[in-house]
Amino acid sequence: MFGLYLHIPFCEKKCIYCDFYSVERTGEIARFVDTLCKEIALRAQYSHTIPQANTVFFGGGTPSLLSAQEMERIMMTLREHYAIIPEAEITAECNPGTVTQEKLTAYRQLGINRLSFGVQSFDEKELAYLQRIHSPEQAFEAMDLARKAGFDNVNMDLMFALPEQEIGTWKKNIHTMVGLQPDHISAYSLIFEEGTPLFALMKKGLANPAKEEHDAHLYEIGMELLGNAGYAQYEVSNFARNGQECKHNVLYWSGDRYCSFGPSAHGFLGDERYWNYRSLRRYSEYVHNSTLPIANKETLNKEEQMFERAFLELRAKGIRLSKFEEDFSVDIKTIAKEEIEWWIQNSWAHINEGRLSLLPKGYAVCDELTLSLITLLEKQAATEWQQKDFTEERDDEPSFSLTVL
Ligand code: SF4
Repeated sequence: MFGLYLHIPFCEKKCIYCDFYSVERTGEIARFVDTLCKEIALRAQYSHTIPQANTVFFGGGTPSLLSAQEMERIMMTLREHYAIIPEAEITAECNPGTVTQEKLTAYRQLGINRLSFGVQSFDEKELAYLQRIHSPEQAFEAMDLARKAGFDNVNMDLMFALPEQEIGTWKKNIHTMVGLQPDHISAYSLIFEEGTPLFALMKKGLANPAKEEHDAHLYEIGMELLGNAGYAQYEVSNFARNGQECKHNVLYWSGDRYCSFGPSAHGFLGDERYWNYRSLRRYSEYVHNSTLPIANKETLNKEEQMFERAFLELRAKGIRLSKFEEDFSVDIKTIAKEEIEWWIQNSWAHINEGRLSLLPKGYAVCDELTLSLITLLEKQAATEWQQKDFTEERDDEPSFSLTVL
């Protein structure tokens, strides 16, 4: 699997908790679209081998601030330089306060086939606290517009563990969301990220994160209600019905490669991770000088790749045991025999279809389980790693050459 990610760094107004890179200077969108198209072409020049893309994801920021014409230009530039398979999943993140019937219909005609709405809450007071720009009614309307435009794959994000959030409000949010019947739901706990206004409020004693036990309780309620409503959990925070999992996210969690564009975007090509400048001005200067806007890059060694694979896969659909052994020469069932038996006894995990996968009770203690497994892998790496030879190239991986001027 191979993916393309495009970061659209504009929002009408910053939400209180958000640490994604975005600016409120929406008057600069048209110029940014020029720059982004230039970066897409520039990056294609530097990649000798470009695999076919199975997924495209417009994230941000607020991609739905782009007009149909701007979106069309980006899609055309992408298709000109990258082979996107006909059945590719193409997602656009949308803020419910920025969509119209006309815009969503045009997006659908451009080949976008999945929408992801940042809803977060249906409670007016919570939305105001988070400084979201939309009302609960606009979220209802957004879903209606999406279905009328022909989208049969729609995600909605929901947030819990807001300061002082009561169990009743959280349950009501879930029931309301389930009533809208999105195909996919992402449910996240509110994080107080450093550098955000919310974090500053906490430092002044004006906002308190939910207590750990309350957060865990809300999470368990969420898992139970969503499970009862037919949403199967396939990652710590993600639930899908009728198998409509987000292919783009599954690609990240499986350690597959992706090429990314836009300020602050992170990409992973060959064994190299790179990230673009987190500044629209700097990003634009580099691209207009025909230089890739890469702020930095790193090459993961095999050991780091192994830890990352274990971490990501355990949190998602489970560790593919034979693939893990094939790639890293480590048999998890042997090195973590006692832990796995303990996890199975506690109904935290099971081994199914060749994967070591978490069960709902296991997702609730996912951090602890991941830590214990990584600790075992570290011990294993410390004792045996030096004797192994990983220099051989895998021939099923795309081979890239990424040159930074
Ligand atoms: S709309 Fe999304 S990206 Fe923009 S500030 Fe809010 S959470 Fe962040």
